[in-house]
Amino acid sequence: MVHFVGAGPGGPDLITLRGAELLRRAGCVIYAGSLVNPALLGLTGENVPIYNSAHMTLEQVMAVTEEAHGQGKEIVRLHTGDPCLYGAVREQMDWLDRVGIPWDVTPGVSSFCGAAAALGAEYTLPGVSQSVIITRMAGRTPVPEKESIAALAAHGATMVIFLSAGMLAGLSAELLKGAYTPDTPAALVYKATWPEERVARCTVGTLAETGAREGISKTALVLVGDFLAHDYSRSCLYHPGFSTEYRQGDGSQKPESR
Ligand code: SAH
Repeated sequence: MVHFVGAGPGGPDLITLRGAELLRRAGCVIYAGSLVNPALLGLTGENVPIYNSAHMTLEQVMAVTEEAHGQGKEIVRLHTGDPCLYGAVREQMDWLDRVGIPWDVTPGVSSFCGAAAALGAEYTLPGVSQSVIITRMAGRTPVPEKESIAALAAHGATMVIFLSAGMLAGLSAELLKGAYTPDTPAALVYKATWPEERVARCTVGTLAETGAREGISKTALVLVGDFLAHDYSRSCLYHPGFSTEYRQGDGSQKPESR
């Protein structure tokens, strides 16, 4: 059996209880060494083989997996954040299906949640944005043309941009083709939830100079949108005049529906 496990964004106590238990029980661990906090590997039993997939191809990862499975071992495939985002898990799942090895998935805290925590921010502010666009700049991995940053930026929604901290000048130019202005608030969050976490607040127009000044060019998320500013409406849900399945409103004026 293979367990795909989300390691969380970095802080070693941010793995789930289920993920930690699977690591303790594992007979073989393959972890994404570029971003998984190695402190997590301390949870594994003694003499358990541990492989860093940063140095391996898909074929090599699968060879190790098939061998360990053949020896009756439980395998943990540890991915950074949550495996569902930029985790290259689908190709592994399909491979395992082809060779008849069962697998399951234990979710993790994605770095985009860790970044919101670092910023003390809510991505979905009433009256500001009710959508979060998770995307990336095209790099060596292409992005479908319909999903270009410029196209997505037309919405003016909250944007969380992965894998792009090394391309901030280009990113800024693309964002400005959409609904954002040079003054739209933005932030870089480097290594959210790691001890060396850093937050740099800036604007869409100053992303590149901020990254250069702070020395941030990788392992960072770019956050863009007016959720980083100060204006918003209070929620309907917790307004005294708002009735829900759980609470009767007091008849005071309801907030505008947003
Ligand atoms: N599955 C992961 C994303 C893997 S892609 C997740 O859910 O978070 C790798 C990219 O994620 C990095 O280039 C960076 O943009 C982002 N990232 C991962 N961990 C991060 C962290 N702790 N802080 C900021 N960005 C991070």
